[in-house]
Amino acid sequence: MNRKNSSRLFSIAKKVLPGGVNSPVRAFNAVGGDPLFIKSAKGSRMTDVDGNEFIDYVASWGPLIFGHAHPEIVSAITRQAGLGTSYGASTELEIQLAEKVVAAMPSIEVVRMVNSGTEAVMSALRLARGITGRDKIVKFEGCYHGHGDSLLVKAGSGLVSLGIPECPGIVSSLAEKTLNLPYNNIDRVRELFDKEGKEIAALIVEPIGGNMGVVPPIPGFLSALREVTEKAGALLIFDEVITGFRVSLGGAQKHYGVNPDITCLGKIIGGGLPVGAYGGSRQVMDHISPVGSVYQAGTLSGNPLAMAAGNVMLDLLSKEGVYESLEQKSAKLCQGLRENVEELGIPAQFTRVGSMFSMFFTDQKIVDFETVKSCDTEFFKRYFNGLLEEGVYIAPSQFEAGFMSAVHTDEEINLTIKASRKALAAAQG
Ligand SMILES: *Cc1c(COP(=O)(O)O)cnc(C)c1O
Repeated sequence: MNRKNSSRLFSIAKKVLPGGVNSPVRAFNAVGGDPLFIKSAKGSRMTDVDGNEFIDYVASWGPLIFGHAHPEIVSAITRQAGLGTSYGASTELEIQLAEKVVAAMPSIEVVRMVNSGTEAVMSALRLARGITGRDKIVKFEGCYHGHGDSLLVKAGSGLVSLGIPECPGIVSSLAEKTLNLPYNNIDRVRELFDKEGKEIAALIVEPIGGNMGVVPPIPGFLSALREVTEKAGALLIFDEVITGFRVSLGGAQKHYGVNPDITCLGKIIGGGLPVGAYGGSRQVMDHISPVGSVYQAGTLSGNPLAMAAGNVMLDLLSKEGVYESLEQKSAKLCQGLRENVEELGIPAQFTRVGSMFSMFFTDQKIVDFETVKSCDTEFFKRYFNGLLEEGVYIAPSQFEAGFMSAVHTDEEINLTIKASRKALAAAQG
């Protein structure tokens, strides 16, 4: 496979962009080689600047649950662009999207739109601190909640792929307020809350770990978090930036039947445009300006292009059978991948909730960041590059989730399973 145009663009990009990229997860540091530069994409396929075509399981890191350039989403964006791209004043589109979010997510009565998942989470933490008058935040090792200062301690996603446990530049008095616990460890949560519960403003969790690869919650984990936070008068924040509208129309909270106080959203609700949102009960959300005094604002918040795309996205998702079909396709793919590794005798673990999934190259059962770290990343590196040669694009890191879209066909899934078998055998050497 010829990738010389990507390589040429990457060498130019490095002169004007840090590391040649605008988000570190796009770099190929963990797998070697130069990142792809994309020319266009349609449905489940992306085409790079050398004309190579890839079946895509990154989906722009989650948002594209209906694939690239879905005709209805494209036409909604185009139509709105002709009417104006931003007004700095209210639109009906914002109400429509908010109503859809409120109708779908069990714990949300009122929602504020922002521009990214990071912004949603930062604002949610400020809100929790503002309501409780407390400073401390509890999070879990390997979870990623965007790049807000309070949350870059033992975080997942790009920080794991690049090996950055502590990010420089975070004020130490702020980092000290962030307490990290191992995911899925209920005893450690109880212990911490017994000691410091009255100082904790909020516990934030990815209700399905999605930024160290997919790590589902063990039975009882989320309900224990609900119980412990409530008892301590701390807020429970579900970061559903990935899981919201991914695992069900009502997100992970609906899937597991546990309601948080604040929910953070992003990715899917923007239909592929930059969006974030946070929401909760009216009582909680009334603390935000202009009703309350917790200030949070945004020049482009509720942007009409993003609202137009998000509205169509949620309409498409609310059609009959969408999640059943995603479940069935994802199960088929993971079953095929599992058969591959079993036949070849490669130690691997599979995790999956609906259309988010991971294959971890380890013999340890995956429950938290420690077990995730036991993976053979050198093996992953060879597998990734083999798969790319076969025309299948997955995230360039062992520690990121795979995403199925509603437009992947059975034929593409079969092709992926075949490509994967070849790449696995080659990686074995
Ligand atoms: C992607 C992600 C974020 C950050 O969202 P951005 O839009 O990249 O700022 C926050 N939390 C989770 C769980 C995410 O996966």
